Amino acid sequence: MFTKLLIANRGEIACRIIHTARRLGIATVAVYSDADRNALHVQLADEAVHIGPAPARESYLVIEHIIEAALSTGAEAIHPGYGFLSENAGFARACADNGICFVGPPTGAIEAMGSKSAAKEIMGAAGVPLVPGYHGADQDPALLQAEADKMGYPVLLKATAGGGGKGMRQVWSAEEFDAALAAAQRESSASFGDATMLVEKYLTKPRHVEVQVFCDNHGNGIYLAERDCSVQRRHQKVIEEAPAPGMTAELREAMGNTALQAAQAIDYRGAGTVEFLLDEDGSFYFMEMNTRLQVEHPVTEMITGQDLVEWQLRVAAGETLPLTQAQLVLRGHAFEARVYAEDPDNDFLPVTGTLAYLRPPAESPHVRVDTGVQQGDEISVYYDPMIAKLIVWDESRERALQRLATALMDYRIGGTVTNLDFLYNLATAAPFQRAELDTGFIERHSALIFHEREQDLERELPLAALALLLYRQQQAAPGGSTDPWSPWNSGSAWRLNEPHAHEFVLHCHQQDFPVSVIQHQDASYHIRSNGRDDILRGQLDGDLLQVEHAGHRQRATLARTEDGFTLYLADGACHFREVRPDTGETDGSGAGSGLAAPMNGTVVTLLVEPGARVDAKTPLLVMEAMKMEHTIRAPVAGVVEQFFFAAGDLVDGGAELLAFSAEEEGS
Ligand code: ADP
Repeated sequence: MFTKLLIANRGEIACRIIHTARRLGIATVAVYSDADRNALHVQLADEAVHIGPAPARESYLVIEHIIEAALSTGAEAIHPGYGFLSENAGFARACADNGICFVGPPTGAIEAMGSKSAAKEIMGAAGVPLVPGYHGADQDPALLQAEADKMGYPVLLKATAGGGGKGMRQVWSAEEFDAALAAAQRESSASFGDATMLVEKYLTKPRHVEVQVFCDNHGNGIYLAERDCSVQRRHQKVIEEAPAPGMTAELREAMGNTALQAAQAIDYRGAGTVEFLLDEDGSFYFMEMNTRLQVEHPVTEMITGQDLVEWQLRVAAGETLPLTQAQLVLRGHAFEARVYAEDPDNDFLPVTGTLAYLRPPAESPHVRVDTGVQQGDEISVYYDPMIAKLIVWDESRERALQRLATALMDYRIGGTVTNLDFLYNLATAAPFQRAELDTGFIERHSALIFHEREQDLERELPLAALALLLYRQQQAAPGGSTDPWSPWNSGSAWRLNEPHAHEFVLHCHQQDFPVSVIQHQDASYHIRSNGRDDILRGQLDGDLLQVEHAGHRQRATLARTEDGFTLYLADGACHFREVRPDTGETDGSGAGSGLAAPMNGTVVTLLVEPGARVDAKTPLLVMEAMKMEHTIRAPVAGVVEQFFFAAGDLVDGGAELLAFSAEEEGS
């Protein structure tokens, strides 16, 4: 086994690898950019080497700097984590050239899987089932269209160099083909510098089921069951689970053996993941193979009781696989939820901010938190906005899901917008509990997950009003306010002994609602809002709200957020805030024309010509920020007068991107 390991990565995965290395008695070397001087992975490692400025292409992606760091510290092996250089064949080769062990597959295997088309070619030849499609070199648009016509619509156009869901377009009919091809090619060129496309039959209700494989240098291979990653937004995973619900022993064996067959076709070594689309009829098709550890590997660790990073290190050091297929035992069910600094109400756009308050749920044999940040750290524009992975385990899916909901409710983050209550709503949505999974899950159930339903509003608005009132009273009570952010510390006109009628405006479910509350002597509250009258009783102890409404008693947790409150109810979370007239605050939709850059980033493409007349919602410009694309659309019908930036330009968050004149109504 190695005595010293360099981790060519940052954040949670660097920390996670350091933990295993330490347990195995291996010394660790971290690398860091200017932005990460005080990062957790740097603090945890035995040594750390500075490798450049904050942008990844000047630090974490510079092969020479990393090799130099390994040579100067005497590290014998490099673990690349995921992302960054983990699937870069040139990096694996540079390691070998310098006598350093790359903890990953051989260079040839990385290269073979580097292009989606080439990968399909190899897998098809090896007898692995593929989604019907065309993945040839001839890119004549007429030929691509003829192939699409032949397989029948809908089809999916995919960038062969693609990743992260970019350069992908669904095409539902022959008429749409040309426009979709142009858009996918443009996106692919901008993101990967390569416009080559493949055309696939688009499965309308598939599940994403992937198999974890492991191979050693002694001819042994094993599959460690599967993960269901069907729940996706922007074609990217949000909640993963293992095992896949409804999996039979026969199907597991068939998928597992096919995955091993795929690995053998490219002479694989180490940890790999073979991704499949599983169709409603039980057929499954190879999608791609990731030649590295996956973000979601912890769910496999939880149900197998194995440490996959340990396995990777053992295999890289030349040992045989720790277990045989027959020795592997699966137990219970695990979920992973990815906690991101992003705004689910704004198309999941990443956000930046300082983690001013950070209280993850307590860890236990049932709850694991993989993170690379601490309170006070910044979520910057430079890297992925993931804050943590929350992983839970229990004997059954039902119980594990209960653990997940509780842990999400206990997770408190202040200082930046997060997807926590989106995750909570997702985890507690009835169709998710019933495991009715497929890749269209979030889209299909968005009204349920985003709590846009009328009955949610009717139920939540009075509770929110009561919670706000009780919170203010709690803060106003002698010694009550310890909250430095409290807007109520500004000496509001709030007094317990005044006539007990209170008027305010609540922002909830994307709308403003005037609310009036009359507080009676018997501690009941008459709440009038949105044309309804409700009588509630309740009290707030710390953050625990106990309410009785129409004979129904319930408990909820009230959490402060940077701009308001979240009320965690038994079946979902409700976000609200008070609209204060004196601040000139409007509907909170970001105001302005909507044509300003939502955050620091780069302009990827301009989609219309200056002077163009466009309809409302027409895509005008694509920006990239934090590795994700965001499309700026026309707010209303009108004319694009001028763009202030060109493709490739860096823009600051808030900068006006273009001049737009709205069309007069009726003109
Ligand atoms: P990327 O490498 O960009 O992440 P993938 O090829 O892994 O792209 O696909 C990402 C997701 O897109 C899949 O998990 C699935 O939800 C969807 N997808 C891909 N191919 C198909 C297809 N042929 N039919 C339906 N959905 C698909």
